[in-house]
This record gives sequence, C-alpha cells and structure tokens, in this order.
Amino acid sequence: MIDETADGPHSGGDMDNDKRYTIGFDLGGTKMLSVVFDADYKVIAQEKARTPPDGDPAVILEAMDATVRKSLKTAGIAFDRVNCAGIGVPSPVDRAAGIVISTPNMGLFQYPMKKELEAKWGVPVFLENDTNAGTYGEFRRGAGKGKKHMAGIFVGTGIGAGIILDGKLYCGASGYAGEVGHLIIMEGGPLCGCGQYGCLEAFSSRTAMAKDAVALASAGNMPSVFKQAGSDFKLYKSKMFELGLKENDPNVRKIIERSAWHMGVGMANLVNILNPELIVLGGGLVDRIGMPYLETARASMQGHLMAGIAKSVTVVLSELKELAVPLGAACIAREETK
Ligand SMILES: [Zn+2]
Repeated sequence: MIDETADGPHSGGDMDNDKRYTIGFDLGGTKMLSVVFDADYKVIAQEKARTPPDGDPAVILEAMDATVRKSLKTAGIAFDRVNCAGIGVPSPVDRAAGIVISTPNMGLFQYPMKKELEAKWGVPVFLENDTNAGTYGEFRRGAGKGKKHMAGIFVGTGIGAGIILDGKLYCGASGYAGEVGHLIIMEGGPLCGCGQYGCLEAFSSRTAMAKDAVALASAGNMPSVFKQAGSDFKLYKSKMFELGLKENDPNVRKIIERSAWHMGVGMANLVNILNPELIVLGGGLVDRIGMPYLETARASMQGHLMAGIAKSVTVVLSELKELAVPLGAACIAREETK
C-alpha cells in the first residue's frame, strides 16, 4: 500500500506537477489525525499524534504542522502537490474569517487558525466544526451517500452532531446549529457540562456512562473490566464498555442501554423537527459498541414517535468511522476551492 522508498509511489509519471492531493485533518481534544487523500479521496497515508495538553495555541499549531508533514512524507508527496487542506476542530468556527471560536480545553479562543496554517503551508485552508465535517463526510462518501436530508450524531466524551438539509450542511444563523447534545430531554435531570440540567449529553455521552460506572465502584459493585479506571471517570475508555458487553456483564449492559435509550429520545426530538430520511450514529463509543447500541437507540426513537413518522427515518452506523472527520473536511475544502 504505502511505499516508503525515497521516491515514493506517487512521484513518477505525467501527473508529477499536478496539485491533486488534499489534506484532511481531525483536531481532537486528546489526539489528532492527518490524512492525505488523492483526487478520488483514496487514503494515501495517515498519521496520528497526541494533542499537546498544555493549551498553548502555538504548541498545538506546531504539532498539527509536524503531523501533516509526517503524513506527506509517508505518502512520498511534497507540499507543492497539495491543492488545499480541510481541518475539523472541536469548536464552532467562523468559516469566512477562518477563526476557531472557542475550545476551552485547548486554549483556543477567537484563534485565526486558517491564516496561521496558510502561512505555514502555502495552500488554502478551510475550517469546519468536527461533527459537521464528520456528517458531511458520511453524506458525501459514506453511509449517507445519495441522501438529501440527514443528521449525524457522534458519541464520545461529549455528543456532537451535524445536519444536512436539502443537500447542504445547515450551520444556522451564527454557526451553532446541530447542538443535539444539549437537547433537554429531561427537565431538571442530571447536570450537563454546559451548565443546564437534563441535556442528552448528561445521559448518553461516554462521560455520563463513566459517572454511572463510578457510582457502581463507590457501591463496591465494580465490573471487572472497569477495575483499572476505578473512581476516576476520566480513565474510562470506549474499549472497556465494548469488552464488558462482550463478557455479558449485566451492569455494563445496563449502562450502555441507558445511554442508547436516551439517545433514542434525542433522536425522536430531532426527527419531529427536521424529518430527516437518515440518521447516522458514530463517534468513538458507538463505533466500538456497534449494533447493540444502534438497536436500542432505534427502538427507543420509534417508541417516542408517531408510527408514520417513525417509519420515515432510517438509522445506520457510521461507515467511515475515524475517517469521517478528515474526509468530510477534505471534501469541504476541495468544494470551497473550486
Ligand atoms: Zn448541555
């Protein structure tokens, strides 16, 4: 697949000077992923790295630059053959100005990332909110290919989503559309990280599930797969829930079912408002658990909708998984450059 010889597999032939490669980048809170795509969006190379935890924008930018250059080196491609780059960031973005509005964990506030990266790379750079990019990736090249009205919902430490209406990404009046994680599904329910009570994220995110697991730990009822995380909710990984389910641990199953059931309530609200033909479920946790999560969420959604409406929407798992964000960001960048 990937030839790491000095010349590389892409340096010969008539297309030598064509700028036909696109960078797709997923900047996450804990790790980052750079992918080099060819003209047909085939993956030529990809590199992962840890996101520096100290919240210094200059340090984060350096790490992004190094990861992108490493992926190009692996691909055997020089930067002058890249046509553009798309970056998915965990923040609302000002697309026109190329500004990351706010990622508290990374210390990026009103940060002009487009300008900074264009100065480093010499190619047009486009920013998009990560879950919007992931939804767009599924819409253009994944589970949503050929659809016009759809939503993508991604479950990880938080819950993010993207909405496609009439074949276009819907961003809202100020770019905040699609905050499905903060749909209030139980007024006065558990406290959410956003400061409100009863948000979907406070029930269904991996963080919420980890808090349930910590409650078991404090009652001396800890499933064995959670031993290494103990009472620190930050140490719970999607993989542990996957393992617990495989071992058929009844408490792990209960926690997963509770998350998926409430997800179905959120999905029903979304369907009532938008009438999408498709909902794609993805993100680290759902990618790990797969069909058991989807089936519970779908059954709950159907139970919370009128029969006719319930039949109008299909629910599927993400096809692109961790490539959804880089691929969607690359598609957006290339379409904007045209
Ligand atoms: Zn909230």
